[in-house]
Amino acid sequence: MIHNFNAGPSILPKEVFEEAAKGILNFRDTELSILEIGHRTALFQSVMDETILLAKELMKLDSDHEVLFLHGGASTQFFQVPMNLLNENQTAAYLDCGVWGSKAIKEARLFGNVEVVASSKDKNYTYIPKGFNIPSGAAYFHFTTNNTIEGTEMFIIPETNVPLVADMSSDILSHETDFNRFALIYAGAQKNIGAAGVNMVVIRKDILGKVNRKLPGMMDYRQHIEAGSMLNTPPVFAIYVCMLTLRWLKKQGGVSAIEKINIAKADLLYKILDAKEGFEPTVSREDRSRMNVVFLIKDPLLEKKFLEGCKEQNMIGVKGHRSVGGYRVSLYNALPLESVKALTSLIDQL
Ligand SMILES: *Cc1c(COP(=O)(O)O)cnc(C)c1O
Repeated sequence: MIHNFNAGPSILPKEVFEEAAKGILNFRDTELSILEIGHRTALFQSVMDETILLAKELMKLDSDHEVLFLHGGASTQFFQVPMNLLNENQTAAYLDCGVWGSKAIKEARLFGNVEVVASSKDKNYTYIPKGFNIPSGAAYFHFTTNNTIEGTEMFIIPETNVPLVADMSSDILSHETDFNRFALIYAGAQKNIGAAGVNMVVIRKDILGKVNRKLPGMMDYRQHIEAGSMLNTPPVFAIYVCMLTLRWLKKQGGVSAIEKINIAKADLLYKILDAKEGFEPTVSREDRSRMNVVFLIKDPLLEKKFLEGCKEQNMIGVKGHRSVGGYRVSLYNALPLESVKALTSLIDQL
């Protein structure tokens, strides 16, 4: 068995891969591949409909919220969000708590003013700033719920009347939260919900149509809503894989059930990292991510033994992001508890 701790693209359930492979060869016994049917066929429309329905159901969304599946990865949302929500003379509030969030800030500045309400850059983004003030006149407040690279996660959503916008790429559907409190949520699919090549975007419709710039059709959320995420050819296969993953999640008991497993996995790993001499988690304890566990190994000899053990036991994807160094172990929804147990027992025996 391979233990896949990759940060993204990352592990998906085995049954999703099996079903996806079948869909490529013989989609729903049509003797056609999902890759060769038109996106406007009833067959593909049923995939799109079910994917959106499952997403709404798993997030318990109200009827004010729309779900879109768009191209371009989360990085496109860094600029599509301000294009649609921020006038040139307005200010958006941003929390600077990681490499991804800082990229979002840079892109937003192309379209309007940005006020950074707090930053943890002073300590290499190893904690989540707290007690900051969100200016009441801001067009929106943007933050990253899980900092994939640095390994911090934000579980408490700020109380404010300013519309909330969140990049949830790496922790969406991994724990319960009130998704209806958000004006906009976006997530690249390749961590918790499916294959690379598609983004899920959740939008509360009333925030749209307020900017005065002209938008290219493909950048305009309202046109995508109108067209049911089929303004142009959607990434059909990536959406199909999302549908299969969401089906799997529903079968597991939904978000509350997976959250329990995710807590157990993270607790198990942090416990051994805290206990084991030479291993050192890098982020502040109260902000530890359940999805991406980042740590250093202080002793070169121990490090060598750890890497040899990983190799022997088919543990892949443990190397840290190039900007942080050390190690990063990703524990996304589809990673089985068994893999975490294998890793903790390896560390324990070093
Ligand atoms: C992976 C990731 C991104 C970038 O996603 P792309 O699909 O590569 O554009 C952005 N934000 C967060 C939080 C991520 O984890």
